[in-house]
Amino acid sequence: MPYSYEAPVSQTLFDRASLVTPGGVNSPVRAFRAVGGTPRFMVSGTGPYLTDADGREYVDLVCSWGPMILGHSHPEVIAAVQEAVARGTSFGTPGEGEVALAEEIVARIEPVEQVRLVSSGTEATMSAIRLARGFTGRAKVVKFAGCYHGHVDALLAAAGSGVATFGLPDTPGVTGAQAGDTIVLPYNDLEAVRTAFAAHPGEIACVITEASPGNMGVVPPLDGFNAGLKEICAANGALYISDEVMTGFRTSKAGWFGVDGVRPDLMTFGKVMGGGFPAAAFGGRADVMAHLAPVGPVYQAGTLSGNPVATAAGLAQLRLLDDAAYAKVDAVSAEIQAMVGEAFTKEGVAHTVSAASNMFSVFFTDQPVRNYEDAKKQEAFRFTAFFHSMLAQGVYLPPSAFESWFVSTAHDTQDVERIAAALPAAARAASEATA
Ligand code: PLP
Repeated sequence: MPYSYEAPVSQTLFDRASLVTPGGVNSPVRAFRAVGGTPRFMVSGTGPYLTDADGREYVDLVCSWGPMILGHSHPEVIAAVQEAVARGTSFGTPGEGEVALAEEIVARIEPVEQVRLVSSGTEATMSAIRLARGFTGRAKVVKFAGCYHGHVDALLAAAGSGVATFGLPDTPGVTGAQAGDTIVLPYNDLEAVRTAFAAHPGEIACVITEASPGNMGVVPPLDGFNAGLKEICAANGALYISDEVMTGFRTSKAGWFGVDGVRPDLMTFGKVMGGGFPAAAFGGRADVMAHLAPVGPVYQAGTLSGNPVATAAGLAQLRLLDDAAYAKVDAVSAEIQAMVGEAFTKEGVAHTVSAASNMFSVFFTDQPVRNYEDAKKQEAFRFTAFFHSMLAQGVYLPPSAFESWFVSTAHDTQDVERIAAALPAAARAASEATA
């Protein structure tokens, strides 16, 4: 075992889990395979803290991969959930909660005229792509290497997140037919997009992009990139789909749209809007959304879509996310980013702290990272040593060098101090690491 730091109860649970679940986990990156060691089984979360099955407390810089922007067990979110649960958990009929959540989304994000609720980000992007194909009558989809849009067959080619973490080639089980209409291009390269449109006139239904990618590490769009995508799509009769599953309601009140103001035709959401429950959405132009069943011919449905408990949690969380909340998250994030950068500089570790508003990650390179190829050139082995030192000192980071770190309104001075205290030893471990 390269890491002697023990977590016996988590290990026992992991052993049990591995017998009944592939790899012992229900989502691959959770298995710690990129960093080694025992995945921590968490039993509770309060504010910025997680407690594992061995009774250890961590300052959480994952926040459930983004959703927990108010921290864990926020009293008002919990109260809304308890109230909803007491009325029943699923009706399979329309309900007021889903109307209120849709209204909140439409009110916050100006390009979204209509929205359909689903249960996961994957469902949202899958449905948006189907709708774009149905609307345009075209088959091809442009995506960017290193962008992750969930495990939709057509979108797994050269994907980020777990696919990047494990360096997987294209996933077995996705047929040539399913992937054959996907065109994968380098991120931040408008010329490549122009060339693709020129090579496939009248064939491209849509371009889908993470509004600001966080699944190959954080790699923000260069100035004018999203606007250029929009322009090229509009000139060629294709739809511009902005995937805001990660950035939505996190990078500002109106997500990344609130940062760059580029109007997509369709958008996808998840994570923060579910308040820790499975709720996601896709929406956009009313004339495009009108192609969706039961109004139009493009079919899409879900037994638990608009679930009353999930919508109550999401709505409670969104209503608490005012300007002051975003200012707090941005400030804490900036403080941690600066501390992390300083710790690596002190130890002489080549690094770049890459940020998109309050989302950020560290690349172990001092070269610019503008796309997935650049991201892969980092010395990721240094992250492993850094991660385990932070974990041993009670700071829970995403277990991969290719994932964003997340903070919440619950992260306070004492938590920033705990992170600050852990950083020197962890940065030293990174500097001493060998490939
Ligand atoms: N799109 C983006 C940008 C994401 O980051 C993710 C998940 O991390 C998804 C889509 C898929 O969402 P889910 O995991 O809810 O299916």
